[in-house]
Amino acid sequence: NGMFTGKVAFVTGGSRGIGEAIVRRLAEEGAAVAFTYASAQEKADRLAKDIEAGGGRALALRADGADGEAVKRAVAEAAAKLGRVNILVNNAGLLDVKPYDAFTLDEFDRMVAVNVRAVFAAVQAAAPEMGEGDRIITIGSVNADASGFAGMSLYSMTKAAVAGMTRGLARDLSPRGITVNNVQPGPVDTDMNPAEGPFADFLRTLMAGGRYGKPAEIAAFVAYLASPEAGYITGASLDINGGFMI
Ligand code: NDP
Repeated sequence: NGMFTGKVAFVTGGSRGIGEAIVRRLAEEGAAVAFTYASAQEKADRLAKDIEAGGGRALALRADGADGEAVKRAVAEAAAKLGRVNILVNNAGLLDVKPYDAFTLDEFDRMVAVNVRAVFAAVQAAAPEMGEGDRIITIGSVNADASGFAGMSLYSMTKAAVAGMTRGLARDLSPRGITVNNVQPGPVDTDMNPAEGPFADFLRTLMAGGRYGKPAEIAAFVAYLASPEAGYITGASLDINGGFMI
């Protein structure tokens, strides 16, 4: 029996990277886990099969965060198939780095839709059915508080937005025993920000610890915040960054 046996988790963007590590960790601890993906159907199905082969319960659902209604439908499908959601992890995110004058307004709208609007949609779909001890966790970014370098205008904006949304939602939902928190990672080795990518050596110069984070390290922190022990943490934006840009 794990810490989350009998619980249902819903993770957005669970097919790769940090989201995949969160899906695996919550499933290892006994949760039945539904997760979304945008396009990587094969990877997502393989992950779900892998978890089921290990005796867990997993459900892969296609839902592009750009479509808030699709996100809401995915939450409803997860609840219908696995039971009402106890742990919502808003992880799916889009990173686009370029000078402010190179963005189109459609790109602005897409980044806001995936990184901010979809978070709100998932909360609207899941939280009404949630209760005492349930958890909402969003993956923000260190870039909410420090852009660090040029080209980050929209990404930093969306990650600051979810930090603010987290405080507001904590006011709405903490009275019902639901905690709402925002995890702000520094550089983590994923497809979005590979430890051997073109910016990696520059980023490493800004890290006190001199290394990238591992997706499993973020997942461990999320598992703690989702646990019964973390009931007095709410409305918080919490850094997990290896001393990046401190
Ligand atoms: P990846 O790009 O490695 O993985 C992104 C995941 O989100 C995939 O599962 C992808 O699905 C899914 N996804 C992407 N776009 C959408 C969309 N429009 N709708 C639904 N799902 C989508 O990213 P990371 O794991 O690196 O990042 C996860 C989160 O962590 C993001 O919110 C990111 O901003 C944040 N973060 C990452 C950091 C890093 O250094 N890596 C640092 C700080 C924060 P599919 O496989 O189908 O494409």
